[in-house]
Amino acid sequence: MPDSHPKSPKVIIAGAGLTGLTMAILLEKAGIEYQVLERSSEVQQTLGGAIILSFNVMPLMEQLGILDQIEAISYAIETTMIYKEDMEVIREINLRSNRKMVGHGTQVIPRPQLHAILLALVPKEKILVNKSIESLVQDADSVTVTCEDKSTYTADILIGADGTDSGTRRALYKDMDKDGITPKIIEEENKTLYMSVFGTTDPMDPANFEGLDDDCTRCDTVVGEERGLTYRTFIIPNNRVSWRVDFQSSDMDPEWVEGYKNADYKAFDVKKLPERWRGRELAMMGSLGILFDNTPQDKICKVVLEENIYENWKHGRTVLIGDALEGMLDAVVLSNLLYEMPTSNQKNISKVFDEFVEERSPSSRRELSPAQQATHVMFGRTWLDVAGRYLLLKLVPRYFKEKSRDYINYYRPQAAFLPRIPSRGENPSTPQRFSKKYAAFLKNKGASSSTATTV
Ligand SMILES: Cc1cc2nc3c(=O)[nH]c(=O)nc-3n(C[C@H](O)[C@H](O)[C@H](O)COP(=O)(O)OP(=O)(O)OC[C@H]3O[C@@H](n4cnc5c(N)ncnc54)[C@H](O)[C@@H]3O)c2cc1C
Repeated sequence: MPDSHPKSPKVIIAGAGLTGLTMAILLEKAGIEYQVLERSSEVQQTLGGAIILSFNVMPLMEQLGILDQIEAISYAIETTMIYKEDMEVIREINLRSNRKMVGHGTQVIPRPQLHAILLALVPKEKILVNKSIESLVQDADSVTVTCEDKSTYTADILIGADGTDSGTRRALYKDMDKDGITPKIIEEENKTLYMSVFGTTDPMDPANFEGLDDDCTRCDTVVGEERGLTYRTFIIPNNRVSWRVDFQSSDMDPEWVEGYKNADYKAFDVKKLPERWRGRELAMMGSLGILFDNTPQDKICKVVLEENIYENWKHGRTVLIGDALEGMLDAVVLSNLLYEMPTSNQKNISKVFDEFVEERSPSSRRELSPAQQATHVMFGRTWLDVAGRYLLLKLVPRYFKEKSRDYINYYRPQAAFLPRIPSRGENPSTPQRFSKKYAAFLKNKGASSSTATTV
């Protein structure tokens, strides 16, 4: 029987964050039909401090034609210093050789500005706001989501890119339950949560802060003596400072933590942090309080970095992707597979999802993600975290570097359906996925343009 499914799938993307927008841009370029459904009433994300964009995502940014814009509003990290509160240096990590090795720097970029750059590449009509996905039904032919306002949308594939508080994940796990599959969620009783407050200051006077008018960033981390406090600063263009304060739920008032737990994407009142933290000194001079006071109060936000570990990423016609840098890498791998998918029947979709999870599996991400390691090593305050930090940073510092080296230096996936960016640095990237479909497209294009020239 002939396959009745159309060749190019129709996709719903849940969420217009950094991950959802990257996915949308890639599907737009791949010529795949899609619609983004966003929970908020405003599509712009205005909250937050800086995001670290590692150099393994830069070839993709170059392919999308936004590398120059990114470099114009960000600085490459050249050194990372880790201090005790008395400013004794625990460790200095030099990243100056990165550009030589991989051709790009690791950029520190304000999250709202990066979001705006990506948003500009997605046609307005492709994003619907006030669409909070609440439930889904899927069968061999399609997936249908129902939003809070009772509207429904049907497609061949649903991609959940809706962040840590994912409505798609909740809906998917209910659907799996219904199909007799118990989703694996690793939940620890009374588990310590890692929490962060992020902000970016307005321009400040360079006379008062060391290195503020340099044209590269310094990333300073101070591991506080008081239990429950680590803070970081990054200098960004226009004499501004992006900052984050990290702490653990176990060190805070339980009542306060309860109210804090569910990040609600609203501005956070920084006065809720303990008053004594304001006086904590910065390596670049000044104090945390000065940063708080120079930051637009309506742009400060709180985030719970880790709650549970969810092992299931896919079922039927639905797949989950996400989390900033990792989400961008997910998006490029998934879009390559979708571009190549012959038709959108269940068999082909399952094959694509299997290959996707194999490459981007949660276990390998946990193993390899430098960001994840950094969270535990830098900010963890359990005795195990402290011992780990001591071991990794003081005794065997090479371990930390080498463990993530292969992932960072060689893993630089590109869109297989866009012109390939040559490897810029001394270290070659892992082989890029080859697309027969794109090769055929180029061949046809070449043939038709040479016909056009001769006519
Ligand atoms: C408010 C906020 C600020 C942050 N600031 C920083 C920062 O400054 N620095 C840093 O390193 N990390 C920060 N983080 C951490 C976060 O990991 C990354 O910043 C990054 O935003 C993750 O990108 P994402 O697109 O995967 O998820 P998100 O940015 O969370 O985007 C998910 C999108 O999905 C939408 N959505 C959620 N549920 C539904 C639903 N049911 N239906 C439809 N749409 C839905 C949301 O409104 C949102 O637009 C922040 C996170 C948040 C939530």
